[in-house]
This record gives sequence, C-alpha cells and structure tokens, in this order.
Amino acid sequence: MNHMIGSLKAILETGKKLVEVRDAAARSELIVQFTRQIMDAQNVEAGLIEKIHALEQKITEFEDWKREKDRYQLEELPPGILMYRLKEGMENGEPIHKICANCYINKKKSLLHNLGTHNGLTEWKCHSCGFKESTGHFSPPPTEPDESNYFL
Ligand SMILES: [Zn+2]
Repeated sequence: MNHMIGSLKAILETGKKLVEVRDAAARSELIVQFTRQIMDAQNVEAGLIEKIHALEQKITEFEDWKREKDRYQLEELPPGILMYRLKEGMENGEPIHKICANCYINKKKSLLHNLGTHNGLTEWKCHSCGFKESTGHFSPPPTEPDESNYFL
C-alpha cells in the first residue's frame, strides 16, 4: 500500500512540474517520466488486486473449513486413540463416519477408513497422512473344537 502512495505522490510531483515548465525539451522529458510513473502505478495496482484476490480466497477457505470442522467432535477410543467423529444432527445426508485427528490439526478433512474388526480390534486408516491404528480390546479367538472328537 505504501508503494501505491509513493507512486501517486511521484505522479503528482511530475504533474506539477509539467504545469510549471515551459521549455519544450524539458516538457517532453517530463511527459516520458509521467507516462512511466503511471504505468508503474498500474503495475502496483494490479499487484494489489492480485493480493486481495488471494486473501479473499484464503478467507473463503478458512470459513469453509470452520463450517466443516464444527460438524465434528474429538473422541478417544481405547486404548487412547484420538479421532474426530461426526456430531449427531450434522450428517447432512452423509453416513456416520470419522475423520483423522492428524489431518484435522492441519485444517484438512480426511476420512478414516474402517478396515474391519478382528478379535475385538477395529483397524483404522487415513489414506492422506498414513495414520493407522487399532482400537478396542483384544479378545482371543474362541478355540476351535477338536474335530477328532466328533465321531466318538
Ligand atoms: Zn490423516
């Protein structure tokens, strides 16, 4: 912004000189300078517009993420694994699911995939950051009945 004010001040100064100077050679030199300064100011303006657009984009992304992150709440599953689960009433037509706490901290929504439950342990995986953990309590599989006793 200071650069823009500096550019405008320079244009104003050159403009004042143009009004005062009568010598033709000096005037044409001032006109060249004046034109260059206006082009510089236009470049500065274009740069500022670009920065404003980038900031607007960031604000929109921030607002989108804020709205999205508020749909989830942190939960801890045994033995102490943290993940975010969809709050009740926030489904918006989506099935109940969980998202990765690592990615959430980095302002990113990544689904946690349930890879299945075996022997009381449910395995979870995030395909974005590679988070992989099991939750639940291990329960040993029931012992197979001894088939040799079937025909006794
Ligand atoms: Zn993740």
